[in-house]
Amino acid sequence: MLLIGDGMGLAQMYAGYTALVGQLNIFNFRNIGLSKTASADSYITDSAAGATAMATGQKTKNRYVGVDSTGRRLTPIPDLINALKMKTAIISAGDITDATPASFYAHQSERSLSEAIAADFLNSPVDILIGSNSSAFIERQDSHNLFTLLQQKGYQTSTRLATFSKPLAGKMVVLDTTAMLSEAKGRAEFLKKALQLSLQNLGKNKAGFFIMAEGAQIDHGGHENNLPYVVQEMLDFDQVVGEAMRFADENGETLVIVTADHETGGLSLLEGSVNQGYVASNFSTKGHSAIPVPVFAYGPHSLDFRGVYENTALFDKIMQIIKKYH
Ligand SMILES: [Zn+2]
Repeated sequence: MLLIGDGMGLAQMYAGYTALVGQLNIFNFRNIGLSKTASADSYITDSAAGATAMATGQKTKNRYVGVDSTGRRLTPIPDLINALKMKTAIISAGDITDATPASFYAHQSERSLSEAIAADFLNSPVDILIGSNSSAFIERQDSHNLFTLLQQKGYQTSTRLATFSKPLAGKMVVLDTTAMLSEAKGRAEFLKKALQLSLQNLGKNKAGFFIMAEGAQIDHGGHENNLPYVVQEMLDFDQVVGEAMRFADENGETLVIVTADHETGGLSLLEGSVNQGYVASNFSTKGHSAIPVPVFAYGPHSLDFRGVYENTALFDKIMQIIKKYH
């Protein structure tokens, strides 16, 4: 499982740890590395180039999704492991056509082309897709209904996650507006439920599975320079990490990797108290920063993730581990 906290640097994690008076599931991981995030054309990456690096092992330009710097299509992890009969879920606490999840199934040289990104999903082997932005699929300018086309390909589709609350087999696409809400506005345990549903469905697949789960809105809080927003989103993401750890503990064969595509806000923590759960901060930018992001690994082969390496090495390491078993 690859859990990506969008915009989550060490300061965001420690702010969450402080707010919880000294607790964070992520801090129970023992194997830790650092990922260098620069893109092909910038010292400071965006989510498109950052996620494409992790999904395909190639650095690309900012704004490019699933294609290299010349616009050539790259093959992401779900496509590579589909040939090994492994199954994939891509889930997000946000817009599923946004750059991070899109890098795992789409191929566009402009991240804002959400309808083209949605159409690319028709050619992806991803089994489960959960997030928001149903309009890119069913209220399109070209008036195609991608839900109808996906149903013809064997997917169950829904605009409400609650529809699939019972364990359900098979492929599914769930695009629920709830995913777009911040925690403060009532998203509640959307991402955790999406992960549980994905694990129920894929967890028993004999050849194994890959799940990318994105805590999308840590980044939004960073762009707003809004620390409470960052902390609430950070803690929601950490709950999802806890759920992944529980599954990994029971299953014994699952590797959990927690990282970020980049840091957002240039956040520094200048005063606080872990005992009192209080922290004062300063943001140095409304954008992203260049600082390497932590990588936390848990479970089999987690030792492989120690050290300081380029974000593309995450793809290399994941694929090397998968190939040991296939
Ligand atoms: Zn951002």
